[in-house]
Amino acid sequence: MRILRTIAEVRAAVSDARTPGRTVGLVPTMGAFHEGHLSLMRAARAQNGLVVVSLFVNPTQFAANEDLSTYPRDESRDAALAEAEGVDILFAPEPAEIYPDGFATNIHVAGITEVLDGASRGPHHFDGVATVVTKLFGIVRPDVAYFGQKDAQQVLVVRRVMRDLNLDVRIEACPIVREPDGLAMSSRNVYLDADARAQAAALNRALDAAAATRSAGERDADSILSAAHAVLAEASLEPEYLELRDAETLHPVTRVERDALLLVAARVGAARLIDNHLLPGNDSSKGSS
Ligand code: AMP
Repeated sequence: MRILRTIAEVRAAVSDARTPGRTVGLVPTMGAFHEGHLSLMRAARAQNGLVVVSLFVNPTQFAANEDLSTYPRDESRDAALAEAEGVDILFAPEPAEIYPDGFATNIHVAGITEVLDGASRGPHHFDGVATVVTKLFGIVRPDVAYFGQKDAQQVLVVRRVMRDLNLDVRIEACPIVREPDGLAMSSRNVYLDADARAQAAALNRALDAAAATRSAGERDADSILSAAHAVLAEASLEPEYLELRDAETLHPVTRVERDALLLVAARVGAARLIDNHLLPGNDSSKGSS
């Protein structure tokens, strides 16, 4: 595996490796790898001739009061884990390589970025995501890019950019990887002390409880949400948001008639955590992620 720092090096390495029929898969990350990241690398490795992982803690998607300076960073550990997954290129640029002086472009996706994490974290968040992902696609020019369904709103934002700007990159959304007690893996889980770690498991339990009412035939959003609220209250967790929204448009849902996302964000101890489940619109299909 090669660790590359500059855009010029990545472009040269990818174009040398690109031969007819040999697809390029990209996994964009901010590092501090866990099994969630590794699952994306495995999917990319299984489906492509060349696998590029980007490791870049993107400053523009953090608000001033967020954890940019304390975000966990351990490049040598990450490099060893990526290498063990058969990754070909780890692209780990400095911020100035991505945002040189004079950088002036911002990609804003209207309509799906103002709600949920866009409301909690501010409008800059998804602008930062959309802009850096589009830059990474311009640098690597992948055939396929791999994202986690854990960040369900991010997947929708990236898909919308691809569609609206006619960028020809297939977006693969991979299932959420969880700890044995159901907590969605996250680089931010290292912020949890023992009490907060135990409390954090209630997020997925709450989503499970709501999903169970849906599986039992419930379609009314308030009834589904109240099952989740009860579990959060029992764990003394006050969600930043707990919402049921259309799985494609993110419009609020009052009755589940089409696939819907049940999404939660909460501060748990020193961490801000998010999670979601897909609730099927169809009564016969059971499933959650
Ligand atoms: P991050 O480094 O947190 O920006 O995440 C990089 C990619 O890994 C994103 O596409 C995330 O959605 C994905 N990811 C993070 N956590 C998980 C998880 N628990 N399961 C699956 N994918 C994940």
